[in-house]
Amino acid sequence: MIPKSHPRYESLITREKLVEGVKRGITALQGLIAHGRGEMFDYVLGEKTHEFAWIAERTAVAMMLLADHPVISVNGNTAVLVPEDLVKLSEILNAPLEVNVFHFSRERVRRIAEYLEGFGAKVLANCDAELEGLEHGRRIVDSRGILIADVVLVPLEDGDRCEVLKRYGKKVIAIDLNPLSRTARMADVTIVDNIVRAVPNMVKIAEELKDYNRNELIEIVNNYDNREILRRAIEAIRDYLTKKADKILLS
Ligand code: ATP
Ligand code: MG
Repeated sequence: MIPKSHPRYESLITREKLVEGVKRGITALQGLIAHGRGEMFDYVLGEKTHEFAWIAERTAVAMMLLADHPVISVNGNTAVLVPEDLVKLSEILNAPLEVNVFHFSRERVRRIAEYLEGFGAKVLANCDAELEGLEHGRRIVDSRGILIADVVLVPLEDGDRCEVLKRYGKKVIAIDLNPLSRTARMADVTIVDNIVRAVPNMVKIAEELKDYNRNELIEIVNNYDNREILRRAIEAIRDYLTKKADKILLS
């Protein structure tokens, strides 16, 4: 039991969910390491959603509402961290969830799909198509989903696949706490925020934007500049560290 009063309560609960995910055969052990890298970036971002992340989240939602075939790609970390919000987002945006994992096995894909279905999700997990140019498990996709998608939301994407999705002409929205990663630099929209905050934020935004007309949504997307967002994210880390360093001198 983690006491609610613990100063790192949220972060510890998140870790517990991932450990539980490993026990259920949903999360890969490597997923724990990837999460650790994410936590480090969250720490130096002050563990909050910055304005640049809100802007990216809003743009992402607008882009998915405008899409013909939006798809939300789900891996073993995302499935256990935010299942309810993924289902809500999928319903509001009319974007199916598709299981897509780096460390592929049919058994793991089935477990993730069943876990999400337990929350009421419609899940694509046929694994009946392949993306060319990739060697690892992420190449295996569903012919009704990522293969034909025009916009793909990929929380915790891997840089290589992001590049391949772009080559297929798809718009890629990434959620990645590391603004320096290849994924962050390759994506069309990079949400530098923790998925445990980003996905619930996107649900709230989607509830608002679903009533906008196409022109209003297009305007949001046209006003967006991902390089500017990445610059602001990197500067936020720099400013956070500068502030901390200054405080050390004062204490
Ligand atoms: P790339 O291949 O794009 O350069 P990478 O090799 O640094 O990325 P991967 O191991 O492929 O990273 O994927 C893990 C990524 O996911 C890291 O960049 C990490 O910051 C991010 N990440 C992990 N957990 C979270 C989380 N809860 N929320 C947001 N991002 C996260
Ligand atoms: Mg990588």
